[in-house]
Amino acid sequence: MKTGEHLASVLAILVSFAFVSIFIGFTGQLNLYWYLYIIPIFIAAITYNLIGSLMVGIASIGILVFWFYSGVGTGLVENPTVLGYEMITGTSIFLIAGLILGYISGKQKKQQAQLERLSVRDRLTGLYNYSYFVDRLDEEIKRSNRYETPLGLIMLDIDYFKDFNDTFGHEKGNKVLKDIAEIIKEKVRDIDIVARYGGEEFAVLLPSVGKEAKEAAERIRKAVEMAEFEGDVEQPIVKKTISAGVAVYPRNAKDDTGLVVKADEALYKAKESGRNQTCVCEQSS
Ligand code: GH3
Ligand code: MG
Ligand code: MG
Repeated sequence: MKTGEHLASVLAILVSFAFVSIFIGFTGQLNLYWYLYIIPIFIAAITYNLIGSLMVGIASIGILVFWFYSGVGTGLVENPTVLGYEMITGTSIFLIAGLILGYISGKQKKQQAQLERLSVRDRLTGLYNYSYFVDRLDEEIKRSNRYETPLGLIMLDIDYFKDFNDTFGHEKGNKVLKDIAEIIKEKVRDIDIVARYGGEEFAVLLPSVGKEAKEAAERIRKAVEMAEFEGDVEQPIVKKTISAGVAVYPRNAKDDTGLVVKADEALYKAKESGRNQTCVCEQSS
């Protein structure tokens, strides 16, 4: 939840709780309005789950016990003892209902968060997946237009990865993919979007980055070149390299698909020129 939402929830809980508490005290009619405690208890259950409903439920019962024993309204009701117990029992039932609601709400939120994570993340590397990348690319292009800032795109592809799989097996190949994903994340800013574009291809979106995108690509390429990957008993340490293609919006492309095409073409050039290098798109849009 965002700070504003927290503020609104806490305010709603406090205001409704205080309103009911004061109202019962002032009216002195113990038989009325106690059921309004259902409002803060349920708001707390929905927003703060078990702990929220527990705290507000206990506080509600506490206030009722206080009014009851302080003698508020006892002169206005015919049988204050029975009514007092009725109020406390009724609010206890709300507390239990609140706890159940809080439990369900907490569980549902956890599932929702997990689902959201699964829908935008690649399971192997933990990077953003292709569909999230496409959505963000569209968004970042719009932002780039609005603020007239450039948008850098780096496409990366592991060199001779098929050979690695053939020699060391798919599992070790997966480990390399994970390690390279970590290296890429380490070498870019937190605001950059790192995605697994395909099998052994990665895409990095660099908001507000123009020419300097090449430097970021080179940082990644060199770090991969320096890294040591796990092989097998015969060859425990394996070196791998990566090729990179860079394109910048709006300099090299008119739209999102154009930008991907241009970065891909630059990547192809890097492969053609011998791999383990970065090529930058030189064409203007
Ligand atoms: P190049 O330098 O031209 O990129 O050569 P390459 O062998 O990397 O290229 P190619 O496209 O021929 O092969 C890509 C390989 O990536 C083939 C496939 O076995 C491997 N690959 C793709 N996805 C995965 C994956 O999820 N796990 C593993 N272990 N390998 C993968
Ligand atoms: Mg490939
Ligand atoms: Mg490859």
